[in-house]
Amino acid sequence: TELSHIRNFSIIAHIDHGKSTLADRLIQVCGGLTDREMSEQVLDNMDIEKERGITIKAQTVRLNYTAKNGETYELNLMDTPGHVDFAYEVSRSLAACEGALLVVDAAQGVEAQTLANVYQSIEHDHEIVPVINKIDLPAAEPEMVRKEIEDIIGIDASEAVLTSAKSGIGIEDVLEALVAKIPPPTGDRDAPLKAMLVDSWYDPYLGVVILVRVMDGVLKKGLNVKFMQGGTEHLIDRVGAFTPKRVDLPEIGPGEIGFITAQIKEVEQARVGDTITTVKGGATAPLKGYKEVQPVVFCGLFPVDAADFEKLRESIGKLRLNDASFSYEMESSAALGFGFRAGFLGLLHLEIIQERLNREYDLDLITTAPSVVYRVHLAHTKNEDAAVVDIHNPADWPDVNRIDMIEEPWIKATIYTPDEYLGSILKLCQDRRGIQTDLTYVGGRAQVTYELPLNEVVFDFYDRLKSISRGYASFDYEQIGLREGDLVKMNIMVNGEPVDALSLIVHRNVAEERGRGMCERLKDLIPRHLFKIPIQAAIGGKIIARETIAALRKDVTAKCYGGDISRKKKLLEKQKKGKARMREYGNVSIPQEAFIAALRMG
Ligand code: GDP
Ligand code: MG
Repeated sequence: TELSHIRNFSIIAHIDHGKSTLADRLIQVCGGLTDREMSEQVLDNMDIEKERGITIKAQTVRLNYTAKNGETYELNLMDTPGHVDFAYEVSRSLAACEGALLVVDAAQGVEAQTLANVYQSIEHDHEIVPVINKIDLPAAEPEMVRKEIEDIIGIDASEAVLTSAKSGIGIEDVLEALVAKIPPPTGDRDAPLKAMLVDSWYDPYLGVVILVRVMDGVLKKGLNVKFMQGGTEHLIDRVGAFTPKRVDLPEIGPGEIGFITAQIKEVEQARVGDTITTVKGGATAPLKGYKEVQPVVFCGLFPVDAADFEKLRESIGKLRLNDASFSYEMESSAALGFGFRAGFLGLLHLEIIQERLNREYDLDLITTAPSVVYRVHLAHTKNEDAAVVDIHNPADWPDVNRIDMIEEPWIKATIYTPDEYLGSILKLCQDRRGIQTDLTYVGGRAQVTYELPLNEVVFDFYDRLKSISRGYASFDYEQIGLREGDLVKMNIMVNGEPVDALSLIVHRNVAEERGRGMCERLKDLIPRHLFKIPIQAAIGGKIIARETIAALRKDVTAKCYGGDISRKKKLLEKQKKGKARMREYGNVSIPQEAFIAALRMG
């Protein structure tokens, strides 16, 4: 296709504002699918995504639209992942486009994620086409939202397209606006090949499928190519596009987006952001913006039933096939047995993997307290040199006497909230060692930015934020580097034995409060036993908090269920089943749920 007849765009929106529904409509109007193939929300094809309404893996669809001027255009629609954890993937998708449809809910107006996405889009010099969606809702106030887009985002919204993606209103107007406003790509067909690797995933039939945006040159079957960052060479065996059905094509030319396959077995070899060029006569410099993504949040994953370890190993391996950003290595713990230490891009990423292991592979897991990566500076001693180590497992925490200085990762968080919840949100941030850097009001809403230590955010910050704002506050973050912190390792002991899954790194100033909270919660979470159970929090040898679970009186079961044999049997069966979900620590059975619940900061 000629450059002048190509339009590459993404859709940006706050969650639930209608991005997927609008994409489906565009596909319905211009895609290569029959009505029957047009299942609901084609772009969000994973179950978990559907339930959570988020897009994890970017998908791109090529559409053909014959405009009112009689010309036919190739529209490449990129669906970008919608969560902060996948910010780098988003940035590569955006770099593959010249414009964006900005979808704003006519009843909700501009929200944090809308803004964060728009700013990113502007950074990539995108032409932004505003779309005010859900105009069918009784609460829709399109004129107010139009003004909001102008006031808050600062772009002209006088020609914003009004749509109801749900009822199919305004879809053609969106397509016309796309063609008229988004600039065509540029590129040189005769220059050395330069294609950006936008995304990659594992397909059981095709092997690794790679989504590309060709900048210069042409991609064809049979071409020998080189991945400039990865340093590998491959023979292209298939070239095509998704409409969203997969179709093979003779080539992908400059300005176009499509996919290639090249007998690649692991997504790890096809890194997002890499530059693809020809082995012979290729480009000399790679495209800008490549970054190697590193996991930032780590936790241990252990099977509740030790016999499931092999199954866990296999399942994790399968997930990893399709997700190079998640890492894992074997770990063994005295109490939890064999498991894996896994690294994730963020908390949502962790939750997704955990949930998939649970649902798709039917694994019951104990997840240890999430940890960030601490940079620990070790002092010089008589026998050892000074050293700097990165620690992502509390179990590896060095001896306090050797620690010279500790650095921890910080983030800049942007929170956008209706006024009425601001007070509680400021308190939450303050409690988490936050430093407020900005606070502005727009309409009835506040936008506040905080610098926060990542370790205060990893467990339940997001849940807390949602609960205190009744779901209205939005949260977005970026990493801003390491800062010195006075951190200590806190152990939790149950009946005198440390529970390794519950040990965590905390700031000294909040250690006592966290320890007390954990002991109190564990007291409610651990069932009574026939003996008294002390629960303690300790730093080094010093106990900083303590609770005691009173002993159960021996005759309780007998009294309750004495007469009824069948009920007693049922109870015993239930106990047997429940046992599989418990772990023993110092003769105390701790239910699986307790591990996670104990860490919630209340
Ligand atoms: P996304 O998170 O931005 O992808 O949003 P979805 O497309 O998944 O839509 C979120 C919810 O809003 C779904 O329940 C949709 O059915 C609904 N929705 C989307 N567009 C419209 C619309 O134009 N009108 C109404 N009333 N609901 C819509
Ligand atoms: Mg969606």
